[in-house]
Amino acid sequence: MNVIGKVTVLPRLPEAIVRLEELAYNMYWSWTPRAQELYSILDEGVWNRFQHNPVRTMLEVSAERLTQVASDPAYLAQYAAVMADFDAYMGKKDTWASQHAAELGQGGNGVAYFSMEYAYHECLPIYSGGLGVLAGDHCKSASDLGLPFTAVGMLFHQGYFTQLFNKDGWQQESYDQLDLTTLPIRLARTPAGDEARVSVRISGREIVLRVWTLQVGRIRVLLLDSNVPENSEDDRKLTARLYGGNQELRIQQYLLLGVGGVRALRVMNVQASVYHMNEGHAAFMVLERIREEVARGQDFRTATEAVAAATLFTTHTPVPAGNDAYPYDLTDKYLGEWPAQLATSRDELYELARQEQYWDNHWVPSFSMSVFALRMSRAANGVSELHGEVSRGLWNFLYQGAEPEEVPIGHVTNGAHNLTFLAQEYRDLFAGVLPSDWTERLEDRGMWEAVRDIPDASLAGTKRRMKVQMIDFVRSSVTRQLERNGASAAEIAATESLLDPDALTIGFARRFATYKRATLLFRDKARLAKIVNDPQRPVQFVFAGKAHPADNPGKAFIQEIYRTAQEPEFRGKIVILENYDMNVARHLVQGVDVWMNNPRRPLEASGTSGMKASFNGAPNFSVLDGWWREGYDGKNGWPIGDEREYADLNLQDDADSFSLYRTLEDDIVPLYYGLDAEGQSHGWLDSVRQAIITVNPEFSMQRQVIDYTQKYYLTLNTRSHAVQANGDALARDIGGWKSWIRQQWPHTSLQASAQLPASVQPGERVSISAQVNPAGINESDLRVEAVLKRGEHIIRVPLESKGQGRYETSIPLDESGLYSIGVRMMPEHEKLSSEFELGLLKWA
Ligand SMILES: *Cc1c(COP(=O)(O)O)cnc(C)c1O
Repeated sequence: MNVIGKVTVLPRLPEAIVRLEELAYNMYWSWTPRAQELYSILDEGVWNRFQHNPVRTMLEVSAERLTQVASDPAYLAQYAAVMADFDAYMGKKDTWASQHAAELGQGGNGVAYFSMEYAYHECLPIYSGGLGVLAGDHCKSASDLGLPFTAVGMLFHQGYFTQLFNKDGWQQESYDQLDLTTLPIRLARTPAGDEARVSVRISGREIVLRVWTLQVGRIRVLLLDSNVPENSEDDRKLTARLYGGNQELRIQQYLLLGVGGVRALRVMNVQASVYHMNEGHAAFMVLERIREEVARGQDFRTATEAVAAATLFTTHTPVPAGNDAYPYDLTDKYLGEWPAQLATSRDELYELARQEQYWDNHWVPSFSMSVFALRMSRAANGVSELHGEVSRGLWNFLYQGAEPEEVPIGHVTNGAHNLTFLAQEYRDLFAGVLPSDWTERLEDRGMWEAVRDIPDASLAGTKRRMKVQMIDFVRSSVTRQLERNGASAAEIAATESLLDPDALTIGFARRFATYKRATLLFRDKARLAKIVNDPQRPVQFVFAGKAHPADNPGKAFIQEIYRTAQEPEFRGKIVILENYDMNVARHLVQGVDVWMNNPRRPLEASGTSGMKASFNGAPNFSVLDGWWREGYDGKNGWPIGDEREYADLNLQDDADSFSLYRTLEDDIVPLYYGLDAEGQSHGWLDSVRQAIITVNPEFSMQRQVIDYTQKYYLTLNTRSHAVQANGDALARDIGGWKSWIRQQWPHTSLQASAQLPASVQPGERVSISAQVNPAGINESDLRVEAVLKRGEHIIRVPLESKGQGRYETSIPLDESGLYSIGVRMMPEHEKLSSEFELGLLKWA
């Protein structure tokens, strides 16, 4: 049949359960296992076959089945309880945001959050890994907190790929066309009731985007889709796959996300006073917002100031190669029409994104998405303390003359959405000791102390039940894989004894990017074989993860683990599961005893899977990188390696693997198997409780979103209102002032001298003087300062103007130590977001 269109007809639901439809279209169910059960009970087989999608499940079950449950008292009781909770959640007035309305007020219109990928649930495969999970979780907590918040993303109609292993353990990718009308999304309608459509012009083609909405609790997500008849065949494929294709596809996708996303907000009449770019992919959002300002009559520089004042950029990429940058000829092809629309020149626009790249043996300028994002935002952050530091070093070159610690990039350490990953069994266990409103106070550290009151036997019982469930899941997944690959009956039967519920079970799952070193465990196979096969104290490992389709080294890692798992001494003790997605992730983090992560420090910006495992009582065993460097407290898990970097990667791998084996042998295995008189491992359960108590609050997404709100959303909201008041008066002032400074700066000069005896007594003063030629810059717009560095400490002391360009100061040196002294000057304007905003600084 030649399909000319599709339509979904939902079943007529019996009155008693009529709200199953409403609930199916609100992702509230994705963090509420009891709500999911209302659909899985309808037909377990359908539920599992269609990735636990409630809309699809309702479409597939028979009318008789629906009538049947509608008169089943147990079903109706659960239905009533879930709906009561749902209504309470949706109708809640006393949210965190309402309690902080005074601070949040100030004309705040909310946050618009842009991300290339979102992971809400396995039935909506528009994510590849951690970045998507983080974005999806951010939305869920924004809803929990009652923030005014709208997210914007892409609806990839072939999603990210499904991963299958062939007989040799080589990753195969399969892409399925998603049936959009069976997903929990709806076509967006404008306030006037029309289907929402926007269009974006790229290289002379007008590309039409359809807008879908996804309801996530109280907040809404707008998803863009180019697969509509108005577009050419090629353009319909622009939103087919996440992270597919080449640079040309990517830059077009970024234009659709950024420009199309802002237009979608406008047709849906969504207001925002803060715009959050989750990674540089979203940076083109500023093009459209500047264009709007210019269309209203502003000049480019004023518009730029007004837009940047309301923009936050979060970077997730500590690897320079992970930052998209385009050669200028390619940029011309896709951004060629933009300078005219923004009333500026190509040079001025490209300068805002310029990064020199080493291509084909020489340095050439490129258009970097991250540089553009940094220059076009007035706040930026990394995703853990260490990643903030690494990012300041990485981008120091944009703030020439600034010390690395002065680079204006802060950090908010990532979190994860507890309820999305917490097993119902743990929720029940926690509910027995925590206050009744515990799900609303997840970030409350003191509250979690009550988990110490959970008796050993209940905790151990829950852990064991969850481990058995996970092992069942692993066995059926491996069985399916073997059947597909034509394995023998004997091989398939052997999956029955795969993994032992009594053995210490360690999980490792993440993207197979090579820096994550998935095969580090196998560096000394003989030693590993001894650990795994100890008859009294056996250890087993479960692996999972996808490699990017173009990443052959990553796929080779998968194959190495697959093959090792077939070797006689590891058979049944080491397993690698295919198709790591949110479903696999939940099973693993809820069922393993320990979560392991051994990236090459400092490349793991944060990592989040270990947090999810500890929510469910699995202590971490990880390299002190990303979040774990902050989370490890000596009792809630174990470190791998030391807090240091290595010049020689081989040496680093040796040292880290040695530390890994030693900690396993000497600490983890003995603690796990150290039973007391009651047959419980009390010491082990203490580290389980400690993991639950420390990680749940500190690394809750709720803590993370509160941090973003207090640290960035509020300040940007205030700042953007100030800058845009009175028809962008301050934006015009700053924009004009910067142009003037930039023009004059090359003509300024600075000389300085200091009277320094070879050594001074504590308390003695040193005199420093400078001679400045300010060119056309007002003295009041210059900060001339002495900088004294003593070890890690930086002391900054302004020099006083004595007229005629002469500046002086005398500084007492109170502390003993070795000081390095310098003098520098920089432009100063009280309304800048940071004194390094211009990136202009001159040392004497
Ligand atoms: C949490 C999660 C990730 C990210 O885990 P990392 O620890 O950051 O590697 C990736 N994929 C899935 C499916 C997840 O649930």
